Amino acid sequence: MALEDIRDRIAAAEAGAGRAAGSVTLIAVSKMQPDERVEAVLKAGQRVFGENRVQEAAGKWPAFREKYEGIELHIIGPLQTNKARQAMELAQAIHSVDRPKLATTLARLAQEIGSCPDLFIQVNTGEEEQKAGVLPREADAFVAECRGLDLPVKGLMCIPPVDEEPALHFALLAKIAARNGLAGLSMGMSGDFETAIALGATHVRVGSAIFGERH
Ligand SMILES: *Cc1c(COP(=O)(O)O)cnc(C)c1O
Repeated sequence: MALEDIRDRIAAAEAGAGRAAGSVTLIAVSKMQPDERVEAVLKAGQRVFGENRVQEAAGKWPAFREKYEGIELHIIGPLQTNKARQAMELAQAIHSVDRPKLATTLARLAQEIGSCPDLFIQVNTGEEEQKAGVLPREADAFVAECRGLDLPVKGLMCIPPVDEEPALHFALLAKIAARNGLAGLSMGMSGDFETAIALGATHVRVGSAIFGERH
């Protein structure tokens, strides 16, 4: 199946970049995919999945979790503050921390719940109007703000503009992460995950190349 091909390509990209085997986590992005396709990928042993919407994730993952052990869920889409609690209770990681109001909400809920998923701060590397994320020049201050709130910030995330060379954006994200002492880099999708791995991605978010086109 396509999953094996993607795993092989990740292994080759790790080796090609002189990185340790297994240093990149594959997040299989299952948003808007039929359950049969998701289940086939679960049967093939994949356990780390990404969803854009909390609502959709809450609708489909509790049932899969009853059937399969060890599922790890990552929320990778924009997160409304009124969905934050549900996201924290459902997911092991959130990749879309992108504004102070969300950060303070997550911090308050982490106190209440007593735990917090791993967090990635989304950076709008292309400075696109319509895209979520803090601007590159605001990233250092926002990382500091999140750390000041005791949030478990593991790394940074970006989605490069569709019409630009992704490598430039991956390199920029890696640079911002390095100067902030952040080890995690969530970057690379179906069309560019090998480039992202060459530039240091620790988490690649691959959807259609594994599951096929979304419905
Ligand atoms: C949908 C999505 C992906 C996966 O995209 P593909 O091109 O299908 O691999 C990755 N990251 C985010 C944030 C997404 O919304």
